[in-house]
Amino acid sequence: VNVTEVTIYPVEQSGKLRAYASFVLDDRFAVHGCKVIETLPGRLTVCMPNRKVTMQCPKCHATGWDGVAGPAVTDDFCGRCGELMPSFDERTRDYRKPNGKLDVHRDVCHPLDRETRDAIAQAVLDKYREVAANGPEGAA
Ligand SMILES: [Zn+2]
Repeated sequence: VNVTEVTIYPVEQSGKLRAYASFVLDDRFAVHGCKVIETLPGRLTVCMPNRKVTMQCPKCHATGWDGVAGPAVTDDFCGRCGELMPSFDERTRDYRKPNGKLDVHRDVCHPLDRETRDAIAQAVLDKYREVAANGPEGAA
């Protein structure tokens, strides 16, 4: 698969997020909402689009990904009806890693093999470094 187009949307430094990115595969399939993350100083990673795990609101029954906007497990209130959600510990109990850290993000889409993953990461990071060096207009 060839990455035929990459668009970088730099963000002012906020935590580890350096930019949002979109890319196109073989001029046929566009992916939006990727992130360029600086995991360690100078070490960049491309994250695929993801979403937070959602839950069903006990009052209005909104569930999130079946067509009705529902609360993420980390939301204190339902975004649809405003109902106060159960306690944070109760909501997130099933979404903890063995070390206790929260694990509430799920990929929306992702490459299935290393070759594709590397091709996407390289294309996005090459473009990111070009934009970071030349400014958003890409002058050079
Ligand atoms: Zn609700």
